[in-house]
Amino acid sequence: MKKITIAIDGHSSTGKSTLAKQLAKYLGYVYVDTGAMYRAVTYFAMQNNLISTTHFDVEKLKNELININLKFIFNADLGFGEIYLNDVNVENEIRKIEVSNLVSKIAEVSEVRSKLVEQQKEFGKDKAVVMDGRDIGTVVFPDAELKLFMTASAQIRAERRFQELKSKGDNVTFEEVYKNVVERDEIDSNRKDSPLIKAIDAIEIDNSHLNRNEQFEKVIKLVNERVKN
Ligand code: C5P
Repeated sequence: MKKITIAIDGHSSTGKSTLAKQLAKYLGYVYVDTGAMYRAVTYFAMQNNLISTTHFDVEKLKNELININLKFIFNADLGFGEIYLNDVNVENEIRKIEVSNLVSKIAEVSEVRSKLVEQQKEFGKDKAVVMDGRDIGTVVFPDAELKLFMTASAQIRAERRFQELKSKGDNVTFEEVYKNVVERDEIDSNRKDSPLIKAIDAIEIDNSHLNRNEQFEKVIKLVNERVKN
């Protein structure tokens, strides 16, 4: 069977990573969560007092990029790679709402993007990869054999994310999560460098009313059409 590249883009909290993990497991492909990379850079910037809700030292961040080393280490129990920032596992820290509230500002910086995109291209150079993010089908792998663009209503996305954070014991309100989801989409869609847009050859999946299995079945058909020839 032919090895392909699967690019999954879309709005915040549309279940991109859930689908990407399902596909990677089923196909025996590598899964790369590019959002985790932007989140890890954000966490680094927060830890080094380069960004907060009231200030952002962009120039200092650009100078510090050389000191940021990111890698994914496969966790067999979880079935996917966890992200390490300078050799420390930051998988839990980067999912917190404080990071979510600042990540889109970090992701607007071109120097950050070019560093991460270079690493993402390297991860996918041998194909057999499922990568999710905002610019995978447009910038990272414009030649990907399968491009998906996922969306769902903001209300439904915020509800899903709220439940997820609550189940992890995070002390957030629904309003806070809803505001974050909408604000991130707004910044991500309007930034100058690599805005979140649907690639012309991407297939849109609105999963507002699809459950995980229905969605998976739909996508597997698309995958099978592409790996056969
Ligand atoms: O996918 P996730 O919601 O974890 O992504 C967090 C943020 O990282 C996005 O809201 C966006 O600002 C940024 N991002 C990006 N390009 C990607 C992946 C994520 O700009 N390829």
